[in-house]
Amino acid sequence: MLFGRSKKNPVRIADKGVVEWKYAACGYCSTGCSIEVGLNAEGKAVASRGVADADVNRGKLCLKGIFEHELFDSAGRGLEPKIRDQWHQPWQPTDWDTALDRIHDEILRIQEKYGRDSFAVISTGQMLTEEFYTLGKLTRGLIGTNNYDGNTTLCMASAVSGYKRSFGSDGPPGCYEDFEHTDLLIAWGSNLPEQHPIIYWRMKEAQEKKGFPLIVVDPRVTMLAQNADIHLPITPGTDVVLQNALMHVILKEGLQDQDYIDANTNGFEDLKAEVEKYDPTTVAKICGIDEDTIRHVARRFASAGAAMQIWTMGINQSTHGSDGVVGINNLALITGNIGKPGGTSLSITGQCNAMGTREWSSCSGLPNYRYLEIPEHRKEIAKFWNIDEEFLPRKRGMFQTDIYHAIESGQIKGLWLIATNPMSSLPNTSRIRKAMEKLEFCAVQDCYEDTESAQYAHVYLPAGTWAEKEGVMTNTERRINVVKPIAEPPGQAKPDLWIFNRMAERFNREGKVTFPEKAPDIFLEMGQLSVGRLSDISGMDHELIEKSRGIQWPYTKEEKDSGQPPPRGGRRLYTETASFRYEDGRAKLIPLPFIDNNEVPDEKFPVWLNTGRLIEHWHGRTKTGKIGNNNKYSPIPFIEINPDLCAEMGIQRGEYVRLVSRRSDAIVMAEPTQRVPKNMVFLPFHFHDCANRLTLGLLDPHSRQPAYKQSAVRIEKIADQKEAARLSMEMRKF
Ligand code: SF4
Repeated sequence: MLFGRSKKNPVRIADKGVVEWKYAACGYCSTGCSIEVGLNAEGKAVASRGVADADVNRGKLCLKGIFEHELFDSAGRGLEPKIRDQWHQPWQPTDWDTALDRIHDEILRIQEKYGRDSFAVISTGQMLTEEFYTLGKLTRGLIGTNNYDGNTTLCMASAVSGYKRSFGSDGPPGCYEDFEHTDLLIAWGSNLPEQHPIIYWRMKEAQEKKGFPLIVVDPRVTMLAQNADIHLPITPGTDVVLQNALMHVILKEGLQDQDYIDANTNGFEDLKAEVEKYDPTTVAKICGIDEDTIRHVARRFASAGAAMQIWTMGINQSTHGSDGVVGINNLALITGNIGKPGGTSLSITGQCNAMGTREWSSCSGLPNYRYLEIPEHRKEIAKFWNIDEEFLPRKRGMFQTDIYHAIESGQIKGLWLIATNPMSSLPNTSRIRKAMEKLEFCAVQDCYEDTESAQYAHVYLPAGTWAEKEGVMTNTERRINVVKPIAEPPGQAKPDLWIFNRMAERFNREGKVTFPEKAPDIFLEMGQLSVGRLSDISGMDHELIEKSRGIQWPYTKEEKDSGQPPPRGGRRLYTETASFRYEDGRAKLIPLPFIDNNEVPDEKFPVWLNTGRLIEHWHGRTKTGKIGNNNKYSPIPFIEINPDLCAEMGIQRGEYVRLVSRRSDAIVMAEPTQRVPKNMVFLPFHFHDCANRLTLGLLDPHSRQPAYKQSAVRIEKIADQKEAARLSMEMRKF
């Protein structure tokens, strides 16, 4: 008699008739998985698979990557440029020249009438790095508006700001390999299994081998928290209080690494004086973590040989986002946990190329982490681009989140949106809608023509997506990977790089500034600008990057010429004594007084609203809402709600309820679960006209990132469930 697997039917993988596999890097999250797309005999993309010899994902993909080839044929793709006089009129198809001329003329008209900065440009973390660099050259070097930013302000601005404040530069110092060396890991507001599944797998595999303890700080019992050795269910928005209390214990008990502090930092005495005020007994009442646990975690963190911290939006999307990042860095610095294997503070980035925009877009400064505020940097770039140095502003302009307020107040009159959809992604939608209606002119460049923001546009430009284009992306651990064209953009749609170059021709009639046509050539130009800088990529080119399945920066020409192969993994920053990016090489320890300025639950709005992502969807569902295999797992808006609260309010599983905040309301389905406490609901933010109708627009003072994760709502029962279902379906959009 046969037992076990031999009795079972073997798993059969459908034969898709693949005749060729083509290489790319995944275009969803910042993990940076290497992917191969299978083409059948007709050249149609029919399958995706992970690349086995890529260090990042080692053959694996998550639910989004597995179905990524379906993007090419998804519904709603823009096939031709469109134009209209007023945003509420019907669209008229047009040709590329007419559409681009109209944008050029409107930019000039608005700038002439209201000043150069009255026209704003907002891009994304979704494009390829050569596209970011070219857009930066066009916007800073030719159009000349200072109100130019990316939607990365919504996810990574606090990490950027915190790194700059602590270390003198942006740039995550650690890498995935650190999981294999660490003796303890703290995850702050990061739910790896759902947000970054392949990083989770790397972490879990390392943990199973090494057995390091995992401590998760999160108000919700996330999937990662379920796997934690210690879960700290913190009161929303109080991370800085907990960080100060941990440092209080470490310093009180003399557990700090004083030699490292003395050799590498400034500001120790001021930090010590501030954290002195945060004794665990007192702060337990503020942050909701009992004093014994605070002491225990502090002792374990400080006594670990190498301790690592990671974080995501739970830290960044707060009115204290930047301070939360500095707090993580403070903890790392006082225990000597920067620049050594397993000892690091690693921000887990959001979008696939959020890092590329940070490094090369010129949104917050100039290419390769140069500052507008530093005269030598302005001079260097002006000379390299062959533009007048005086044309460059002397400090950065508005952040994306401030640009909409400036539209409201009439300071900004025109807007060019590139691969971003503020009507879905910004908090307090009704306020954003009013701002969009006020624009004299709006151009939307996107691979989809049916985005919510396109309804306010006067010109629509159809762009290519992901592997319809060529270029590089940088992942969370500073690894540059390459995307090769696998499919043609549909209809008349064009790669973003082509669009920027055609627009540049209109502003560059005398041909003073050069705009290479091909991404590999642009990459080499960027390499020249990177020599000797923190993010030196001069040893790389597209071919070598593909062959290596991604290369971590820095990799210099010198290293390449001396025969040193590209690093496979394990490259870290700040490994030498006093090698931080402040002039004296020392990092800053910055005291962080806690300012309690969040919206908190009260009598009228008694429940915390926590928002976040699901594994099957990507941001506003513009992509995944159209891919059946992703969308079927969560096709409608729902909340996680505690069963005790359901019992108290008489709410059944699957019943529709109304969430009401001070901004607006939304209809959602109730999904009872113990993952949230009784005074909190969790609402995935992916659904159109839902979470951001409710969220608050409070901004972090340093990063201007919105506090999406902390606001207050009340829950109302709905008598007419049929009508509620209809309204909820409307929020599905697709
Ligand atoms: Fe793509 Fe991120 Fe999934 Fe990897 S983990 S396949 S990069 S979405």
